[in-house]
Amino acid sequence: MAVAGTVIFRARYLLPIVGPCIENGALRVRDGRIVDVGEAGSILGQGDSENVVDFGDAVLLPPMANAHTHLELTHLPYWDAFAAEREYASFTDWLLHLIGVLRGVPQEEFGFSLHDGIRRLLRCGTGAVGDIVSRLSARNAYENCPLRGRLFLEALGTDADLNRQTFDILHKILVDKAPGAMAYGLAPHSIYTLTLEFLQQLSMLGSRLGLVQSIHVAESPEETTLVRDGCGPFAERLYPQVGWGGRIPPARGVSPVGLLNQHDILRPGDLLVHGVQVSSRDIATIAGRGVYVVLCPRSNHRIGIGNAPVADYRTAGVPLVLGTDSMASCDSLSLWDEVAFARQCFGDALDPGTLLNMATYEGARALGLAGEMGGLAPGYGAHFQVLQPSHLPRAGQLEDFLCSAGRTGDVKALYLDGKPCNPSSASL
Ligand SMILES: [Zn+2]
Repeated sequence: MAVAGTVIFRARYLLPIVGPCIENGALRVRDGRIVDVGEAGSILGQGDSENVVDFGDAVLLPPMANAHTHLELTHLPYWDAFAAEREYASFTDWLLHLIGVLRGVPQEEFGFSLHDGIRRLLRCGTGAVGDIVSRLSARNAYENCPLRGRLFLEALGTDADLNRQTFDILHKILVDKAPGAMAYGLAPHSIYTLTLEFLQQLSMLGSRLGLVQSIHVAESPEETTLVRDGCGPFAERLYPQVGWGGRIPPARGVSPVGLLNQHDILRPGDLLVHGVQVSSRDIATIAGRGVYVVLCPRSNHRIGIGNAPVADYRTAGVPLVLGTDSMASCDSLSLWDEVAFARQCFGDALDPGTLLNMATYEGARALGLAGEMGGLAPGYGAHFQVLQPSHLPRAGQLEDFLCSAGRTGDVKALYLDGKPCNPSSASL
């Protein structure tokens, strides 16, 4: 359906996120921007010859913003036949298994895999993504892609010479425009896969170029042991098995968050991914630094590393957003599935309204799209998704219903810039 000029979109429920639910709501869109939002009765009939798209018994709300994933790993279940059934004794076992699988994958496969990941995101109502790309040529999959958000180029390494080469390659790419509608960011992988010196160099590069950073921090107990004590399973198994045996870092005597804080690595707006193994002091540090914590509860559960202390983060005023992480530790790339899991996992610490806000408005804000995506109000871009479940609850139960399992299959349409996105379109 081609949509041009002024169009009105109507649905039984319109959930603006930045305002209360509107029953029998409508949205007036002109040239890809929202110009009016309200009850259908007041929106319809104002223009002479306006097109009306009536979704009927449906929910219209902002698109999902998946703040952390690795779309280049979307095909992992094809590369590792029994990936979904595997259980891991520890994070180290999971990581070593993953490294082994990825060593056998030809480079060109990662581009196809990322491409498929983009289609899957669009199919489940996602409009913005924080994607980590490690195989740099795969990033070209974002050309001609309507997704917004940040493309975080990843770096890791403990060899000084190789790190210099990586730094130069990244620098050269990052001064250019990112592909498609994305903006670049920088992803130092983690404290345990980078030397402190390299981490600082990358942080300074990011600061100079004005790039947001995304870092895996405080994910596993092994990470804390390595950073604080310079020993444990990463020193005994991970480092030797990837050929880093002679480069085990010294004991720092602080937590991963404490180390980042000591060396001024974190800046306001950065994304701290996972944040599971944190003390109350770490949480105060995170709050003081003005960074987002990206929760990936399904991934944490799958690897068996515990749950992030969500209630403590909220008390401290830390902004929380959601990510699916990759198909290496999760069964789908749908943020609707992540919301449903988080609702069960965190109980009253994250009520349905808060979860929907995190999945849309806050996620878009964390990905640099404040005022553009994540809300339905005049001035925002006309970015929205439409859910058509087999039955709809009363308005008072709508948020609860939306946070229950099974919503991924209800996504019937996604509009970005006022245009319907067809994930199977050849241009994607
Ligand atoms: Zn990750």
